[in-house]
Amino acid sequence: MNSERTEAVPDFEHDESFRDSIGTVDKAGKRVWITPKKTKGKFYNARTWFSLLLLALLFSGPFIRIGGQPLLLLNFFERKFVIFGAPFWPQDFHLFALLLLCFVIFIVTFTAVFGRVWCGWACPQTVFMEMVFRRIEYWIEGDSNKQRKLNAVPMSFSKLFKKTIKHLIFFLIAFVIGNTFMAYIIGSEPWWEIVTQPPTEHFVGFMAVLIFSGIFYFIFAWFREQACVIVCPYGRFQSVLLDKSSIVISYDFKRGEPRGKKSRSYTGAKLGDCIDCHQCVDVCPTGIDIRNGTQLECVNCTSCIDACDSVMTKIKRPKGLIRFASYNAIKTGDHRKFTPRIFGYSTVLVVLLIIFMAVLLSRKDIETTVLRSPGTLFQELAGDGYSNIYQFKIINKTLNDIPISFKLKNKKANIRLNQQNFIVPKNNLYSSMMVIDIQKSQLNPGRNQIILQVWHGNKLLEEVNTTFQAAAEFK
Ligand code: SF4
Ligand code: SF4
Repeated sequence: MNSERTEAVPDFEHDESFRDSIGTVDKAGKRVWITPKKTKGKFYNARTWFSLLLLALLFSGPFIRIGGQPLLLLNFFERKFVIFGAPFWPQDFHLFALLLLCFVIFIVTFTAVFGRVWCGWACPQTVFMEMVFRRIEYWIEGDSNKQRKLNAVPMSFSKLFKKTIKHLIFFLIAFVIGNTFMAYIIGSEPWWEIVTQPPTEHFVGFMAVLIFSGIFYFIFAWFREQACVIVCPYGRFQSVLLDKSSIVISYDFKRGEPRGKKSRSYTGAKLGDCIDCHQCVDVCPTGIDIRNGTQLECVNCTSCIDACDSVMTKIKRPKGLIRFASYNAIKTGDHRKFTPRIFGYSTVLVVLLIIFMAVLLSRKDIETTVLRSPGTLFQELAGDGYSNIYQFKIINKTLNDIPISFKLKNKKANIRLNQQNFIVPKNNLYSSMMVIDIQKSQLNPGRNQIILQVWHGNKLLEEVNTTFQAAAEFK
């Protein structure tokens, strides 16, 4: 590319008028229905395989078991979360919050370096929309031109048939997604009960599945790219996360401008490599022209790269007129990725990860809660002592069943349990009642502080402080 041509296009970089509107809304404020052209190319193939992997993971997630736990469970109702088979109990909420924070900072850092790659490649919205629903639409209604023609013609038997079949399939898939979503929230076993038992027995669960299915159907059949452009908070944040060193889908304006039809070059006009064929715009699922520069609507799906590469191949020019590159790399050839901002984000991320690991490693294997039974004070024993009733809960956070026994520290006591040596199942919770009898000679009048020891065989696992109530006066 010669530099004369580059200097001849200063307006291109400064004309930001395209940001005054979005590609999916016309001047009258009405929705512009996007019917992107089918994409072909190496990025699309890679995305297809990657999406298949993600879809397999997504649909099997609630059913895969690691140490008896699901791969992922997000039970907000019972505040039980399982991530990669590791359960997080309500007592671990600080850990869960830390993990979420690390994830958010990771996404922020990743976005600042590589732009919105998550959106185009891994976000369930894009994966389902582009790799499932859009493909079904192509299969039933044809490519974008045929879809537009079908939408424009009056209703006929053929049009009604195609639209009905398409929406039926859309709803069926939305129903499958709704069920999977439900299994992620409540767990696969309770979900299976909802599915296999009459709706009257699980009316709330049954309605929830139908509502989730309806929402997914609405999103993929009608709302579509609006979810990314208007609703998604991550998309909104993009403008503050990206800078000129971020690697995003970029049009090489130095090489491409001034753009023009190939035929114009015969008139002697000095033209760039962009032949203004509009292919990159036609395939865009959010309806933007990436040649205007990075835009909020771009989900980094790479369809425009594939489209432009195939045009460049046809006209025998090098591929990569649209490619992954930062603005600085195109403008000045500066490929630096590790800017002070990225250094700052990375430092915060590393510090948070260290804190998370420290908290995780110091997490106890079991966690015991002991509370005096509400409404009871004490009972005087026939002999010479008092008894108190307690409720206790033990959470076993390990992958092994743990037999447990109790002792009292520094006091002789008789501890009565339903089962003297009980087992707390792995990754589970055991709750029961116990009665503690203590001789008067071991007690002070009124409230006494006692320490309950939790033993596994000869190993002391934990000590829990609680109180023991005796009469206000006794001899
Ligand atoms: S596909 Fe490539 S050549 Fe065609 S308009 Fe887009 S950037 Fe220009
Ligand atoms: S501009 Fe390109 S990468 Fe961005 S959404 Fe459109 S087609 Fe996808």
